[in-house]
Amino acid sequence: MVNTTIKTTKSQEIFAAAQNLMPGGVSSPVRAFKSVGGQPIVFDRVNGAYIWDVDDNKYIDYVGSWGPAICGHAHPEVITALHTALEKGTSFGAPCVLENVLAEMVIDAVKSIEMVRFVNSGTEACMAVLRLMRAFTKRDKIIKFEGCYHGHADMFLVKAGSGVATLGLPDSPGVPKAATSDTLTAPYNDLEAVKALFEENPNQIAGVILEPVVGNAGFITPDAGFLEGLRELTHEHGALLVFDEVMTGFRIAYGGAQEKFGITPDLTTLGKIIGGGLPVGAYGGRRDIMSMVAPAGPVYQAGTLSGNPLAMTAGIKTLELLQKPGTYDSLEQMTQKLTNGLLKIAQETGHAVCGGNISAMFGLFFTAGPVHNYEDAKKADTAKFGRFHRGMLEHGIYLAPSQFEAGFTSLAHTDGDIEQTLAAARDVMSSL
Ligand SMILES: *Cc1c(COP(=O)(O)O)cnc(C)c1O
Repeated sequence: MVNTTIKTTKSQEIFAAAQNLMPGGVSSPVRAFKSVGGQPIVFDRVNGAYIWDVDDNKYIDYVGSWGPAICGHAHPEVITALHTALEKGTSFGAPCVLENVLAEMVIDAVKSIEMVRFVNSGTEACMAVLRLMRAFTKRDKIIKFEGCYHGHADMFLVKAGSGVATLGLPDSPGVPKAATSDTLTAPYNDLEAVKALFEENPNQIAGVILEPVVGNAGFITPDAGFLEGLRELTHEHGALLVFDEVMTGFRIAYGGAQEKFGITPDLTTLGKIIGGGLPVGAYGGRRDIMSMVAPAGPVYQAGTLSGNPLAMTAGIKTLELLQKPGTYDSLEQMTQKLTNGLLKIAQETGHAVCGGNISAMFGLFFTAGPVHNYEDAKKADTAKFGRFHRGMLEHGIYLAPSQFEAGFTSLAHTDGDIEQTLAAARDVMSSL
């Protein structure tokens, strides 16, 4: 299907050329729009809540570069700080004081983190935290949840979310059995299944890793008692609890899901927002565990560009902007207005839709729901979502091109943007 109402000539030309240059024409799978039909839009620039494509169409953006753009794209203060940092060079490959500044901000904000190590992506942070979990507990097995995504390292490509879910890939070829044989999986929100795994594998489980609020199987919240139960079970069995807050960190609250739900894990991974739009990840946690990371301890992990001054600068400025009083209240109010509006319109136009938001993270499923886990999420009408997505695009609204991704708002979105989005949704849903 080709766009009918918007001009996309240049997007189509560039994407066609990209097909010969890069697998699928993209640098990351979900960008290819495979699950919503039609061609992806090729972008030229971003600013505030908006993105412009190469044919000069303007869209209200609810992807926000998949999370980092919580202050709005190209925030003037972030750009100015980056200009200043750029004058001093792009990479030192040696200690720089900006690392201390961002480390202190992260440690102050995230309850579980007493020490932190910076890396270059969320994938790296999750790979590293897994090695550390295993080294600290001297156990090999881990538990992850169906539909949760922890980056693309071999050990996590078991019933993973995000692009794996979007493209319906079972497990990726090229992942040896040995790499995943110690990865146990349970349905999200199913404490009994986790309990059973602990009982079947006594003294063998290093820990449990999860998205405390899921964004990579669509938006799924933890049932009351689920996070508490995992905290108790891991304590009881001498295992570690790891929150993958690459998406939720600084998004659903300044201190992440652990602040929002009052549950403190042993280790936490971060990414996205803490890089302010530049490539960053981080992992951190209890001092006794983090002290095992090289060169303080024996657990190896390194990175040529880790802690580089530009990424640190964008992260510092972004967190400073988020510290302004009222940030998360206004994000909550605005996002709730959006999701409540969408749910009401769906109901009035006769579509079974469920969903919700926490602060600046939201999601809708084209199913009556409720959705407690990935099995429930898969009941969504993905073909209908694809038509909705395309319709919204033609109305100038850019949503994540998959039913199995969360949506993101930013401080730059205005009431007018939300109203325009709801008006578009009414139009599109009426004609679905
Ligand atoms: C995005 C994401 C990752 C992977 O981060 P990358 O920077 O894309 O490697 C890991 N975990 C979660 C929860 C994420 O949302």
